[in-house]
Amino acid sequence: MNKIFKSSLLGALVLSTTIATAAEQKFVTIGTGGQTGVYYVVGQSICKLVNRGIKDHNIKCNAPSTGGSVANINAIGAGEQDMGVAQSDWQFHAYNGTSKFEGKGNKELRALFSVHPEPFTLVVRADSGINSFDDLKNKRVNVGNPGSGTRGTMEVVMAAKKLAMKDFSLKSELKAAEMSAALCDNNLDAITYTAGHPSGAIKEASVSCDSKIAPVTGPEVDKLIADFPFYAPAVIPGGMYKGTDQDVKTFGVAATFVSSTNTDDETVYQVVKAVFDNFKRFKKLHPAFAHLTEKEMISNALSAPLHDGAVKYYKERGWM
Ligand code: GLU
Repeated sequence: MNKIFKSSLLGALVLSTTIATAAEQKFVTIGTGGQTGVYYVVGQSICKLVNRGIKDHNIKCNAPSTGGSVANINAIGAGEQDMGVAQSDWQFHAYNGTSKFEGKGNKELRALFSVHPEPFTLVVRADSGINSFDDLKNKRVNVGNPGSGTRGTMEVVMAAKKLAMKDFSLKSELKAAEMSAALCDNNLDAITYTAGHPSGAIKEASVSCDSKIAPVTGPEVDKLIADFPFYAPAVIPGGMYKGTDQDVKTFGVAATFVSSTNTDDETVYQVVKAVFDNFKRFKKLHPAFAHLTEKEMISNALSAPLHDGAVKYYKERGWM
């Protein structure tokens, strides 16, 4: 078949499917996180790239703010969201039915790719007397909103460090978008956030009042890293935030992008294609994406099986 004939045939095919499906536009909802987080940028960026190609695939993408990782995984399981961003630890537990997901594992969960690293980050008021996670006893601490991955991971660190909620003089569950103002209004001593850097929320805390990032280390953290494949040592670079000039040690996970077998292959294929066909543009949409590589994104930090629609695209590109 010659090229011109092939492309006109393809053109006719595209035209006829467009006409046939003009009335049935598909909508894709991507769950993100708080508006000052990086997940929100991930979702908005993906949708921006998908929506640029709407004439070709008739898929309209939206990415509302949500409670975060665990809320996204639950909403995907309930069929309320097609896709979402989720921490690698919670992807693992949701697929395997462990930890918070014991007895409610989701074998339909599918991985698409991983995104940026997310260090577990502790930000404290400079006048709080807190110099590390081990100083949190009797302090006013934001442990993260229920449904956030931050909250889940905070509970894991607390259990490892034998710290209970009642050990705090105040336990608050503010959302990420609200916690920095509460810290700077002196209603809290410390906030926690498992998020990519630089993060808007932490920037807000660092410029609105005297605050700093404190380390989360010790034998308990070393044991978490040794025991679980999804935890790794992490460093928040000095100089990134006002008040924190030296590198700070902690541990972290990765942000990942997930969906379900209930989302059809063609939709997943188009979403993945929109990201990787425009990868240079995608990487420019947030500084936390600057070091991403295609190879790592499709292999690192994924514990649920890859979605068939994503595999189709990765094979086409010769990556698998
Ligand atoms: N990792 C956080 C969570 O799952 C969200 C971070 C962000 O929004 O960038 O709650």
